[in-house]
Amino acid sequence: MTDSPAPVRPDRRAEIAAGLAGVRSRIADACAAAGRDPAEVTLIAVTKTYPAGDVVALAALGVTDVGENRDQEAAPKAAEVAAAGADPCWHFVGQLQRNKAKSVVRYADVVHSVDSVRLARALDAASVSGRDRPLDVLVQVSIDADAARGGALPDTADPDAGLAAVAEAVAGGDGLRLAGLMAVAPLGWEPDRAFARLAEVAEAFRAVHPGATALSAGMSGDLETAIRYGATHVRVGSALLGMRPTLR
Ligand SMILES: *Cc1c(COP(=O)(O)O)cnc(C)c1O
Repeated sequence: MTDSPAPVRPDRRAEIAAGLAGVRSRIADACAAAGRDPAEVTLIAVTKTYPAGDVVALAALGVTDVGENRDQEAAPKAAEVAAAGADPCWHFVGQLQRNKAKSVVRYADVVHSVDSVRLARALDAASVSGRDRPLDVLVQVSIDADAARGGALPDTADPDAGLAAVAEAVAGGDGLRLAGLMAVAPLGWEPDRAFARLAEVAEAFRAVHPGATALSAGMSGDLETAIRYGATHVRVGSALLGMRPTLR
């Protein structure tokens, strides 16, 4: 049995509440400016490097979705949060090794970072044997088509990393449900240019996969721009919880 985490101290709780209020109002303002309904945009609190107690505090403040980027950290944290009686939807947003698929499908509800056919197949096999319902998957796309930085490549026929091939592998998996696309603005790109490009890719993608409507884009620094270009999920860490000690 996993122990539930100690409750956060009142000053930390107040800090998290203030961070959340700030992010919620940024999302509301961005939706108003874009003429969008805020109900179309889901806030995912990215809690990497922060303890399970912070996740429980976020859940108590009404946050329904949390994100993590490393299995070694996320698996025990999810168990602690469950032991505290909180049940948020867990999003895995980081680079994922195939040998972690079995672990991730046990606690994650959504994986945002599938960018190869081989990873899709590994997750599908793990999901079929380790879950009682399909895993939601977003295909991570590369905005700058730099294969070294991860992300499936739009407009290329690469059999492992081409966007069409990865999407087909996800859509064809019995244990997976193709939910949409995810991207990170490349370093050195203006968010406007990055998310405009992503919106084009997403539009073409939805013409082929009309049910895959999720678009996960935007972080603490660029969520307004992502919302302007159609993000349905924003992944926010530091603006909610504070700067992380190490950047990763
Ligand atoms: C850490 C992380 C985030 C959150 O970043 P912040 O700048 O702290 O908001 C979002 N997406 C991914 C994939 C991440 O790894």
